[in-house]
Amino acid sequence: MAWEKIVKRIGVGCCPECQSLGFDYQEGANPHDDERAAVLCPNCGWKGMLGQMRIIPEPGTNGASQKMSDMKRTSLIALLVRLVGFTLGGAVLGFAAMLIGTSFLGGVQGGIHSDWTLVVLLGILVCFALGGVAGAKGATRLVKSWRS
Ligand SMILES: [Zn+2]
Repeated sequence: MAWEKIVKRIGVGCCPECQSLGFDYQEGANPHDDERAAVLCPNCGWKGMLGQMRIIPEPGTNGASQKMSDMKRTSLIALLVRLVGFTLGGAVLGFAAMLIGTSFLGGVQGGIHSDWTLVVLLGILVCFALGGVAGAKGATRLVKSWRS
């Protein structure tokens, strides 16, 4: 594997004199010479071979991936919270609508077999959806207030 690739893979070339990151190839240098390639520091003008440079781990690589997994976990929790909130809110409102709807149907002539059944069913569905959305929003807000 070419030295340059190793440097890129495991970290960044770092000037041995001034510790600044990055390097330039000297004029006429052949990057394919790998560690014997002539490089210079763009910061302090140090000249040497690529192999003489210090290699330090890519700054922020670990931190970034840590943050990524944190974000993934957070969004997963948020998703779960929303799901639970949706189910609870939808169940409560849907159940309430069903109670109201069935008692309403009980008072209507023809009962469950009347045309109103469809309307009531639709109402239950709408209430379920509304309750679900409200529940999801409420649950998210609740979790956020817990965290802060
Ligand atoms: Zn330097």
